[in-house]
Amino acid sequence: MSGSDTGRLAKGLFSGRRQGRLWFVIGALASLAVLAFAVYQFAGRAEPEPMTGIVLSFDDRASINSWGESLQFLQDAGIKATFFVDKFDAMTPEQIETLRELARRGNEIGSHGFRHVNAAQLIEQGMTAEEYLDTEIHPSIQAMKELGFECKSFAYPFGSTSEATDAALKEIFVTIRKVGPVGLYYDGTTAPFVGSQFIDGTNMTEERIEAMILKAQEVGGILSLGAHKIGPEGGVCWCSYDTLKIVADLAKKHRMPFYTMSELAEL
Ligand SMILES: [Zn+2]
Repeated sequence: MSGSDTGRLAKGLFSGRRQGRLWFVIGALASLAVLAFAVYQFAGRAEPEPMTGIVLSFDDRASINSWGESLQFLQDAGIKATFFVDKFDAMTPEQIETLRELARRGNEIGSHGFRHVNAAQLIEQGMTAEEYLDTEIHPSIQAMKELGFECKSFAYPFGSTSEATDAALKEIFVTIRKVGPVGLYYDGTTAPFVGSQFIDGTNMTEERIEAMILKAQEVGGILSLGAHKIGPEGGVCWCSYDTLKIVADLAKKHRMPFYTMSELAEL
């Protein structure tokens, strides 16, 4: 192409009708790009990501001191959890401060009953669900409120449940944790009830935890794991740092976010 050809082409492109056509083409392409982006966004909304994640909970007022000693560990491991506490009226100032610090760090504090009673046993012995609420639930919520904790979730002590208390509790709490396989891979169908597998002790291997995580991803559910005290060693009612580190590392590896119990109700 000679120098004069290039000059003519440039002149043609940037003058008169050709310039108009060029701008029309640019405009059309831009509109198409905007349309494609809008379709992409809409398609993204139409097909939500399958539910996946981990909901971890720790139980009992008797465990609070161990939680207080593990604040840094939990923070470093990137663990967010729900801490279920009974006997809220009988805590030391240090225990209250530990719970407040846990809440400040994004964890949830839930009710584990007022006196940590066995619901199924009491109902069998003739207690009504209303009496159960009056003696075990309302005083617990009230005691939490007096210390500034909003109570949205509940965990049955001993994992002991009854139909009558289930029906009464679901009018009060957004999430109710039980023990066992029903709702262990929570996908919303058992709401507001969530199951759980306890990982205290010394026999919870990386293979077992990873198998549960893979199962949760396969079925599109949130894996619910429970424990009591937290410390360097595992044992009866003690969950070791090693076990929790395995959970945290596998959560990262498999891109499983941690949820609190009441967050499940918002998914
Ligand atoms: Zn308990």
